[in-house]
Amino acid sequence: MAKILILPGDGIGPEVMAEVRRIADTLAETHGLAFEFEEGNVGGAAIDAEGAPLAEETLQRALNADAVLLGAVGGPKWDSLPFDQKPERALLRLRKELGLFANLRPAIVFDPLADASSLKPELVRGLDLMIVRELTGGVYFGEPRGIEDIGGGQRRAVNTQVYTSEEIRRVAAVAFELARKRGNRVVSTEKANVMETGVLWREEVTALHAESYNDVSLEHMYADNCAMQLVRQPKQFDVIVTDNLFGDMLSDEAAMLTGSLGMLPSASLGAPDAQGRRKAMYEPVHGSAPDIAGQGVANPLATLLSFAMMLRYSFDHGDAADAVEGAVTRVLDRGLRTPDLVQPGTTKVSTREIGDEIRREISKTE
Ligand code: ATP
Ligand code: MG
Repeated sequence: MAKILILPGDGIGPEVMAEVRRIADTLAETHGLAFEFEEGNVGGAAIDAEGAPLAEETLQRALNADAVLLGAVGGPKWDSLPFDQKPERALLRLRKELGLFANLRPAIVFDPLADASSLKPELVRGLDLMIVRELTGGVYFGEPRGIEDIGGGQRRAVNTQVYTSEEIRRVAAVAFELARKRGNRVVSTEKANVMETGVLWREEVTALHAESYNDVSLEHMYADNCAMQLVRQPKQFDVIVTDNLFGDMLSDEAAMLTGSLGMLPSASLGAPDAQGRRKAMYEPVHGSAPDIAGQGVANPLATLLSFAMMLRYSFDHGDAADAVEGAVTRVLDRGLRTPDLVQPGTTKVSTREIGDEIRREISKTE
């Protein structure tokens, strides 16, 4: 039986995760999902319970699981800890140990929320794109790096962007494979006009495409143009693949097209094993939202949609993922909203209530 490690974490993490667990129970009945769920501590909760943001035993369980679902980490209680003991260290450690080099950030606009976007509703209604960001290489990690005194009261700062063929190809492969399950189109983004890493990026993506993925449509686009196109005509995109730095910015830009932090899921994938299974961790884009934690008002949909991504990408349960996404759309269509999404003419509901309504919608369609 497939094993899922649930790490609810801090702040609103536990309360949104509780809804996801209940919805998973419903899916077990309606779609015959057979998962073995385990729970563990992460972040501040783990510091309090086990003395470190990620206990060795929890890490081992993450390595042994078929997928990890994470809530959120961090909060004011642990803010004064030294950097290397902070709750957020757990995320870096998990990413590194699981080898998660591809970060998937979908930007989906649910019809009933099109008015909440920062763009005109007609520009984003029906938007469904996916950004695949390289997560473990590039300028955030390249050597040499540092700040040095160069005399005369001047200092000099250095960062280095480094990419190998292998690093580029493995993340591009993720993008091509995803595209096959979606709209079959990939836009690869870099600055080959001014950066050597951009030149190599373009050459390797082109070569891999010709070798293994020529059934997928591929277009190259400079990152500055891509940033512009994202606000000009976002619906032209299906899958965008890019490096760590550009992906950081473009995925936040794309997130704003949807207008709601409480609705944004993500996935991080590693290399496939002998059976083609990738290590994977799924989590909402939002943080632990300590300002509203424990009040039962948090929006659980970003974490629920992260779980739907898990169903689709780790377990090939596209049917169950569709059921979740369909139920989310219908609940929003009925005007039910957690406080973060309330607009005139809609009905305010709690975390638990929206969870209940989603369960009801999933059961109804079976
Ligand atoms: P990080 O933890 O990544 O540093 P952050 O502290 O900047 O993130 P969040 O914790 O995501 O940000 O919260 C930002 C704001 O959005 C807060 O006011 C928070 O209450 C709100 N928010 C975030 N997630 C949700 C959610 N799921 N439901 C309702 N409101 C949310
Ligand atoms: Mg924060």
